[in-house]
Amino acid sequence: MADKVTRPEQADIPILHDVDVLVVGAGPGGLGAAVAAARLGARTLLCEQYGFSGGMATAGLVNPFMPNHLDGRSLDTGVFQDWCELMDQMGGMLEDGRTFCPETAKLAFERLCLDAGVELLYHVQLDRPLMAGSDIDCVLMLGKSGLTAHRARIYVDATGDADLAARAGCEFEYGRPEDGHAQPMTTNFDVAGVDIERMPDRGTINELYDRARAEGRLRCPRENVLWFRSVEPDRIHFNTTRIVQRRATDTVDLSEAEIEGRRQIVDYLRFLREDVPGFETARLHAIADTVGVRESRRVRGHAYLRRDDFRNAAKFPDGIARVRYPIDIHSPTGEGTEHDSLPEGEWYEIPYGCLVPADCDNLLVGGRPISVDHAVHSSMRVMPPACTVGQACGTAAAMAVERGLGPAELDGTAVRQSMTEQGVWLEG
Ligand SMILES: Cc1cc2nc3c(=O)[nH]c(=O)nc-3n(C[C@H](O)[C@H](O)[C@H](O)COP(=O)(O)OP(=O)(O)OC[C@H]3O[C@@H](n4cnc5c(N)ncnc54)[C@H](O)[C@@H]3O)c2cc1C
Repeated sequence: MADKVTRPEQADIPILHDVDVLVVGAGPGGLGAAVAAARLGARTLLCEQYGFSGGMATAGLVNPFMPNHLDGRSLDTGVFQDWCELMDQMGGMLEDGRTFCPETAKLAFERLCLDAGVELLYHVQLDRPLMAGSDIDCVLMLGKSGLTAHRARIYVDATGDADLAARAGCEFEYGRPEDGHAQPMTTNFDVAGVDIERMPDRGTINELYDRARAEGRLRCPRENVLWFRSVEPDRIHFNTTRIVQRRATDTVDLSEAEIEGRRQIVDYLRFLREDVPGFETARLHAIADTVGVRESRRVRGHAYLRRDDFRNAAKFPDGIARVRYPIDIHSPTGEGTEHDSLPEGEWYEIPYGCLVPADCDNLLVGGRPISVDHAVHSSMRVMPPACTVGQACGTAAAMAVERGLGPAELDGTAVRQSMTEQGVWLEG
């Protein structure tokens, strides 16, 4: 039996949009990109596969925002800060400024986009771009109406997995250099009805976890239990399942990862109720709508940042984001999490060229899959800088449209200047 079929020729596909900037993916990177482009006057469309926005912050139930702070102050003072402030006004943010309500995150994300003039299109998944040489002519999206076409001058890939860049033929890296394995996936979950007063400290919970694993009652390759407080006093958030050696861009692997994540949650719930004081009558409150993907493709750009650049706290005239969050690599194959921090008072910068793919002339990459190595990716991937990187893409996209240039023809120092004018902390 043949192992392939050929797609018959498509009938004509309706063009639904002709805009200046089209962003695919409504996660933190897509938020920064779409809001910045629209605020700078570009007609902007944001396309998302789910029926709501937020990406990993909502669909992946990722919480809290990891601190990307210098001397106690957030480095992400642009669109990311606007998102946090709006969540706070809506009553969905704890006093720590990091722990947020995922449902409020959806509302605030959408409000920011609509107020900026972004057009949102939900329930559409990228099928593929149609190319005109090394330019994207339009993208085909698959939704309830079947295939629809959407055209723009400049495109931003904010899918987290660089789906658009990969399908446009851009070169990319995947995972770590020695074997191509990426950081593990994790299915996040929340447990409610916890008697917080009786909950043991982290060390004791980890000892109980070691015992349950040794007795074969809990099967998970992670070395300890990773948990956080949530916006509700009796609810604990777990970022602790570990699904290794599955490719997030492989349909079957991704499906198996979902099943394995939920299998681990069943083990965890039994362990928590049976072994951990305070959880005796706790109940499952929520499982993330999707398994969380930490790392997949990283698109080769005009610049490339390595671990040494992190260690040297590299700065660039066209640096568009400042990052202080450490290297944070969850083992791609089993136990262990590697950390490497910058000295007090130091940060590194991401140069504009890391956002500009080498192989496509009207595309930018926002959010996590930019042109950095496995180690730097583990640092810049957290939500605050991912959003600021997206903001730089939206800024560059709007500038490119206004000047009739491609992203690679723009002066990155002008993008930095505009980011500074938008309130992003890049000077001083
Ligand atoms: C398990 C886990 C725990 C983490 N913990 C933390 C943490 O505690 N704190 C922190 O700050 N960061 C954390 N991170 C990192 C952070 O969540 C992500 O790196 C960040 O969300 C990346 O933002 P993004 O916009 O690039 O991608 P995403 O948040 O993944 O958003 C991508 C968006 O694109 C959409 N999309 C994808 N493909 C397509 C397609 N083909 N067509 C249409 N739409 C598409 C998705 O639905 C999604 O909305 C964690 C990540 C994971 C996976």
